[in-house]
Amino acid sequence: MSETTLHGSGGYIVANITEEQAKKADLGVGKLFLAPIGKLEEREMIKHYCKICEEEFNNPPKVHLEENNREQVADNLVLVERGQYNCQKCDSAIGEYRVFEKQDEAGEVGNAKPSDLVSDRN
Ligand SMILES: [Zn+2]
Repeated sequence: MSETTLHGSGGYIVANITEEQAKKADLGVGKLFLAPIGKLEEREMIKHYCKICEEEFNNPPKVHLEENNREQVADNLVLVERGQYNCQKCDSAIGEYRVFEKQDEAGEVGNAKPSDLVSDRN
């Protein structure tokens, strides 16, 4: 785990992420992004910066769940959950997240717990 700055459209979040998460967040342009990681838990987030407030806060942003209807987005890919991270002060969006599930994997690992099937696989 290391403290990493993850950029979103409305600011950034400093979070403790794993090497695997860091790889997902790295789009090869010299900084890391929130969107490709999936959902961050509140305990993983340390600080957030809001472009509207122009201020860095020493606590996690609010997590706002927009949708958790399972939605088929490709042949074997289901969008499980979608939401935003919001500024604690003004409530504007810092960034967004999406959690996907691959259906073929879900089928093969029949006995696994549902939590094992979400977001960690690529
Ligand atoms: Zn704000």
